[in-house]
Amino acid sequence: MEINLISDTVTKPTKQMLEAMFAAEVGDDVFNADPTVNALQDKVARLFGMEAALFFPSGTMANQVAIKIHTHPGDRIFCDKWAHVYNFEGGGIAFNSGVTSKLIDGERGMFTATQLATAVTGRADIHVPYSKLVAIENTTNKGGGACWEISELQKIKKVCNTNNLKLHLDGARLFNALVAKQQDPKQFGEIFDTISICLSKGLGCPVGSLLLGSKKQIQQAFRVRKLFGGGMRQVGYLASAGIYALDNHVERLAEDHQKAKQIGRALEVSAAIKSVEPIETNIVIFYAQNETYLLESFKKASVLITSMGEGKLRIVTHLDFTEAMHKKVLQIIASL
Ligand SMILES: *Cc1c(COP(=O)(O)O)cnc(C)c1O
Repeated sequence: MEINLISDTVTKPTKQMLEAMFAAEVGDDVFNADPTVNALQDKVARLFGMEAALFFPSGTMANQVAIKIHTHPGDRIFCDKWAHVYNFEGGGIAFNSGVTSKLIDGERGMFTATQLATAVTGRADIHVPYSKLVAIENTTNKGGGACWEISELQKIKKVCNTNNLKLHLDGARLFNALVAKQQDPKQFGEIFDTISICLSKGLGCPVGSLLLGSKKQIQQAFRVRKLFGGGMRQVGYLASAGIYALDNHVERLAEDHQKAKQIGRALEVSAAIKSVEPIETNIVIFYAQNETYLLESFKKASVLITSMGEGKLRIVTHLDFTEAMHKKVLQIIASL
């Protein structure tokens, strides 16, 4: 039995999800004529208390389109040094939008309002690029699934308002944060100008992301999505998986979080492990005494994990990681 813990994107649709997909009513979404896509977009917009939403094939495209609509070439954006938009989207900030990034040296992928205020200096100086956008990631990926406090986000929003900056949330795993911290999605809708969410991470869909924003922003995003090649046709088959996931796979994220914490505790007491980062959601980041030995041991037991460089190892729990698999992983860790 192979146990794949490299990411929560490795899940396959459940039988019930596939049934929902087969039963979807569809139309040509490039003409806004797919009723299931429209229903998903309305559902997510309502959930966050935002005006509109748009379906995307990937989180990367949703983030990149957001950056495009908030900026002009030559502008700069602010994000954490570990941000996915900066590190893992192929340089898209520069390639797609011609924008530079000012990186903030945060903690576990999160920075403070004070750090942002310090970074946004020299605005009047003609040498300095125009400052347009702040991008936040919740939960943080490279930061080990860490969750932001609403109070800090509100302070960051104030800095944005003072400095005329838009605020985007890369919420690929936002539902993990909402469940872990029991937060209200509408609070996020109030703070952020645009939010991207992924259906293909913890929620277990094969494909799909959404971008949320004002009606005007989503209209612009609709154009830019087409320009980026992301206009899709009878895509309601995929959107129906999203509706199914929102109705059935959100609350259960707590199980993934619990398994991640149990794995973390097992790693902490193992002599083979140097240290484990704090665990808030479904991502476990840890450092081995001997990385080669550890990766080999997992591989021999058919457990797949990720090496993130700089000695960082990552385990991600998910919908297809069963109780039996979990028991086996705990046994393997105990035997290291
Ligand atoms: C996975 C991920 C994305 C992008 O998602 P894709 O659908 O793989 O393009 C964006 N941001 C974060 C934090 C992610 O983890």
